[in-house]
Amino acid sequence: MKKFLKILVHPVTMISLVQVAWTVALIFWILFFIGRYNQVVELAESTGARPQDLVSWAPLVVGILLLVFIFGGTLVLILYLSRQYILNRQMKIFMSFISHELRTPLTSIRLLLETMRDNKLNPEQEAEFIDNMLQDTDRLTRRIGSILSASRLERRLLPMRQEIISLDLLVERFVQGRKTAIESAGHRVIARDLSPAAVIGDPEQLESVLGNLVANAERYSPTGSDITISLSTLGRWAALSVRDEGIGIAWHELRKVFRLFYRGESGGDSIKRGSGLGLYIVKGIVEQHHGKVTARSQGIGKGTTFVVQLPLANGKSE
Ligand code: ATP
Ligand code: MG
Repeated sequence: MKKFLKILVHPVTMISLVQVAWTVALIFWILFFIGRYNQVVELAESTGARPQDLVSWAPLVVGILLLVFIFGGTLVLILYLSRQYILNRQMKIFMSFISHELRTPLTSIRLLLETMRDNKLNPEQEAEFIDNMLQDTDRLTRRIGSILSASRLERRLLPMRQEIISLDLLVERFVQGRKTAIESAGHRVIARDLSPAAVIGDPEQLESVLGNLVANAERYSPTGSDITISLSTLGRWAALSVRDEGIGIAWHELRKVFRLFYRGESGGDSIKRGSGLGLYIVKGIVEQHHGKVTARSQGIGKGTTFVVQLPLANGKSE
């Protein structure tokens, strides 16, 4: 009952009800007007006057036009409010997720420091503790970095360097640098068919695009499966694709996944999801580079391919 009342007094429900009321009122008004018009026609016939001299259609037409405008306006408002409502809910989930994500490494660092302070450790143990703390600080830095990037993108303040970059070399370097970590986490990363492609942009940002896409491919696909990165050129575009053999994305989510805080529904609840910032950052950076990014998937369980298209530096493929 309480839930029902909450839904009933929700602004979106109220506005929708007002919409229905307007529409019903409009229908009655038209019926009333037509009824009256017919009466006037009968009266005119009996007195020999012309009906159009007695009644005009103008108020009805103007009234209907006004109501159509109101209807359109409120529809836009409903859509906007629903979006805001969903965003607000996703932000609450994000806040609880991110507080947990920030607290866990901090707690771990504190625990390790306390152990080091209170116990005499041998050099190997000490080195292991320091490595663990460094991993935790890396995790914190990555998380804070993505919050910062998302907030700067939101305010269109993410600074971007303009350099000529060999995308194929950037991919090769990325794969070499990350291969061991990705393979020790149980995936095989394959860089295949890397066509030479020069683009203009910020190498760090493009590396973070690749990093986010590969991190997703790792997170949303089963251990042991392949992650394939390829690069081709077509016309004046370079197309970088990251393909996995994972949980896939339902067709109705293919565009939504790029929204701020969006965490997918595909694959069920057993999947460990992140903060919902990654693809928002990817899209923002790609758009800053005048490119576009799309997600493709044959459906749930059938893997996903993300394709990033960037304009070539010389305007055409080599
Ligand atoms: P973050 O990257 O910020 O740690 P996240 O991975 O949940 O968190 P995004 O990278 O923005 O956020 O992805 C949004 C959603 O898109 C994910 O929650 C997931 O449901 C879906 N998704 C992204 N990449 C894939 C993929 N390769 N396969 C299947 N689903 C994916
Ligand atoms: Mg992600």
